[in-house]
Formats: sequence, C-alpha cells, structure tokens
Amino acid sequence: MIVTLPPLPYELTALEPYISKQTLEFHHGKHHQTYVTNLNNLIQSAPQQYASLEDIIRDTAGKAGQEGIFNNAAQVWNHTFFWNGMKANGGGEPTGDIAALIQRDLGGYEGFKDTFKKTAISQFGSGWGWLVLDENGTLKVTKTGNADLPMIHGQKALLACDVWEHAYYLDYQNRRADFVDAFLNHLINWDFVNQNLAAG
Ligand code: MN
Repeated sequence: MIVTLPPLPYELTALEPYISKQTLEFHHGKHHQTYVTNLNNLIQSAPQQYASLEDIIRDTAGKAGQEGIFNNAAQVWNHTFFWNGMKANGGGEPTGDIAALIQRDLGGYEGFKDTFKKTAISQFGSGWGWLVLDENGTLKVTKTGNADLPMIHGQKALLACDVWEHAYYLDYQNRRADFVDAFLNHLINWDFVNQNLAAG
C-alpha cells in the first residue's frame, strides 16, 4: 500500500492566532509529510503486505527491528488525528454526548481542563496528550512518549494534543503550557470528539 498525506481540514490561517500559518506549513507540510515519506520508503522494502495504516501500527508495535516502521506509521496517524481534533473558533465547554462523560468521569469541564493541562505539560520530552476511553469504557486523560498511541494499549482515542516542541516552538517557544491553554480554550473540535465516541 501507499500512504498519502491527507490535506488539512482547514486553511493554513484558520487556527490563527493560536497556531500560526508558519507553524502549520512546517508541521503539516514538512514534519507530517516526512513521516509519510519515511513510512513509504520503509514499507516498500518490508516483506509484509498491509491493508491499512492501523494494520501497520498494530503489526509492528513492540516488535524488535520494526521500530522505524512503527514510529513513522504511528506519527502519520497521530498527526492526522490531531489536525481533525481542532477547528477555528473551537475549544471551550464540550457539547453533545462527551459533555456527560466528562461530567461523570473527569469532574466536569473544569476538572477535564485541569487534568488535561497538567498531563500534557508533564510529558517529559516529546509526546502526546490524549482524551481516551479505556477498555472499561471509562473516560481518561493520558499521555504517551514519542510516537506511542492509545490503540496499542487497548484504549480508544477521542482527542490528541501534540506536545512535541515542533508543535509550538515557533509560536510559543518554551511555553508549552500556553500552547495547551490555547488548545483547550480555542481549538478543540468537540464535534470530532463526539464522532469518535459514536463510532464505538
Ligand atoms: Mn507533530
């Protein structure tokens, strides 16, 4: 199979001033594209035949000698998921079914924001902050390092926040907390979260 770079679901300026056009140009056009290019080069010479990106991720997770394929495949998936989880004029209080789950499992919207911010800030080095459903259907906020992702831990991803420095350095330099605040208050696409929830 050939993996392609999905277009952004909005214009390059759509998330300004919280994420600049320049950041999106580099982050989507260079970083995300590089994971796509690397992955295609790696699977071209791999003996396995894969049906989907998810197949590649699940098949190579934790396997010795497969780290390059796993890391690039997971980063392709993570970034597409991250882009779709944001929109212009997003963020703020949740709507739809996710609102009730946040109330039930995370102490309401303020509890969610507080936990998500603390979790995303405390990821040491590169990684991701997540809103997930665990194997028991409980809503949780988690973090992963580097390319690691919920699907290989029996969890269903609902929302992702990229906390690699390349995600925020041009706009926020070292201030990851300010970037996470902007994500929470102005960028989250709750419709996308609800779609993931409904997809079971
Ligand atoms: Mn990234």
